[in-house]
Amino acid sequence: MALPLRDPPRAPLDPTSILRKHFGFPEFRPGQRDLVVAAASGKDALGILPTGGGKSICYQVPALMLDGLVLVVSPLVSLMADQVQRALEAGIPAAALHSGLEPSERAEVERGLLERRYRVLLVAPERFSGADFRELLPLLGTVLLVIDEAHCISCWGHDFRPAYREMGTVRDRLAVPVLALTATATPRVRQDIESSLGMHDPVRIIGSFDRPNLQWAVRSAGSLLEKGKEIRAMIRRAPGGRMVYAATRRRVERIREALARSGIRAEAYHAGLPPAERDRVQDYFMSDPAPVIVATCAFGMGIDRPDVRLVIHDQLPGSLEAYYQEAGRAGRDGGPGLCVALHSNRDAAVHRAFLDRTHPPLRTPGEFWRCWQAGELQDRLERRRAERARHRGVGRYA
Ligand code: ADP
Ligand code: MG
Repeated sequence: MALPLRDPPRAPLDPTSILRKHFGFPEFRPGQRDLVVAAASGKDALGILPTGGGKSICYQVPALMLDGLVLVVSPLVSLMADQVQRALEAGIPAAALHSGLEPSERAEVERGLLERRYRVLLVAPERFSGADFRELLPLLGTVLLVIDEAHCISCWGHDFRPAYREMGTVRDRLAVPVLALTATATPRVRQDIESSLGMHDPVRIIGSFDRPNLQWAVRSAGSLLEKGKEIRAMIRRAPGGRMVYAATRRRVERIREALARSGIRAEAYHAGLPPAERDRVQDYFMSDPAPVIVATCAFGMGIDRPDVRLVIHDQLPGSLEAYYQEAGRAGRDGGPGLCVALHSNRDAAVHRAFLDRTHPPLRTPGEFWRCWQAGELQDRLERRRAERARHRGVGRYA
């Protein structure tokens, strides 16, 4: 009688030897090991590590230890492509399913999934609402669900994406442990992530936010003219990638024009530009040896140039977390980075105007009454209060 074929017994898989063998790094960075061990041993875990802290390793190493598919939810196609590339370089069979695939590419990935050829699959949260993927999901042999950029789960976070709210249901359906990763999470966002995903007694790793290679400065600049001068002088002095964040599209255009007038080539980026133009500017930023970009907060997540040496904020953003995220794009390669926030007392007015638009105050008794009747009063007041508190935090910081 033929004996059933069996895999030869596997050598015990030690996370550090996997890290060395597949990635060529001698040691884990702070926090990584605990998250790897938690994920590989079936525990729920929440990892808050700074930008560039190495969050991907926290699911890539478990993918090499576990027998099955690690399903990674990621917000942007550009991030997915980058993660697939890096996983493949480390010898991890990986793929992504997203709307940019040709039908034949998609069929190939789906075939690979059914044949259990991949260890990592990246998808956007919106994919789970499609009937095709819902049918495929139970057949994938998923052993771990990873939520990258997990602050997108929380409406208190700065990149809130409604489809991320459904990830708790997905996790229930899959009945697998979940690993949530993000660089920014206030206690409230953190709690929201844990409860929305239905985490059970998670391992929590909160890394240090100190980035010793970055220098931080806040400068008082009175007039727009003065700000313009400071920006020009700093850009001229800095090598590598240079970024200027401004609060409005109009201000972005103004700064770019002023730079051009003084002979500095800079490109503008904001959500009002057509997609092709945005792609062109992104390519310029990634490929030029010393690009200058002037942008609103629309330029950011997923843009991963390692040698950004200067990030100037023409105005402070709406919250401290958003500031840390944007300014933190400097020095991802560990080299020096200078983060300068220009501050003038008038800046708060811009954010107050944004706040009134996104969370309008209740101005009349009629509005108040309708809101109360719809059962939304508490929620609305609370959100506005929270938004105001975030703004006050920035004011204090400046
Ligand atoms: P994050 O998602 O936290 O912003 P990434 O996962 O993109 O960060 O990693 C940032 C960089 O750090 C990558 O180039 C990665 O290869 C590198 N890195 C990650 N872990 C280590 C480690 N243990 N030792 C050295 N470099 C590492
Ligand atoms: Mg990341």
